[in-house]
Amino acid sequence: MEAKLTVSIPRDLLDTILAGAKQLYPRESFLFLRGKKSKGVIRVSDLVIAPFAVHGKGFAGFSSYMLPMDFSIVGTVHSHPSGNTRPSHVDLNHMFGRIVMIVGYPFDGEQCVAVYDSTGEKLNLQVTASEKMDES
Ligand SMILES: [Zn+2]
Repeated sequence: MEAKLTVSIPRDLLDTILAGAKQLYPRESFLFLRGKKSKGVIRVSDLVIAPFAVHGKGFAGFSSYMLPMDFSIVGTVHSHPSGNTRPSHVDLNHMFGRIVMIVGYPFDGEQCVAVYDSTGEKLNLQVTASEKMDES
């Protein structure tokens, strides 16, 4: 069995996700998460706006052939205007990457955020101090 993953995200990135979800409410927001996995920790370092963003349709309009060919994408994040941060069956069946992050209404902070692996198991979320990533 693989050890449970931890997902770490800088606070400013999380704030950006929450602000975007608030802005689109009551529609769903959807973004790709870019990052790296090392030693059981997935570090999210960037957000990528979906080129086909079909807000309000949720995953029903999700087509994998439209995805960018970018292997640094570790997963996705979307909002649940209902406030329930559990993934739906559709969320888990249409996963892209290793993780699915869900932000629930009212999008007020990390207590409104949950992250899951492809089996639907809840992962640890670690919010780190905002820091500039190395420009390499
Ligand atoms: Zn969902």
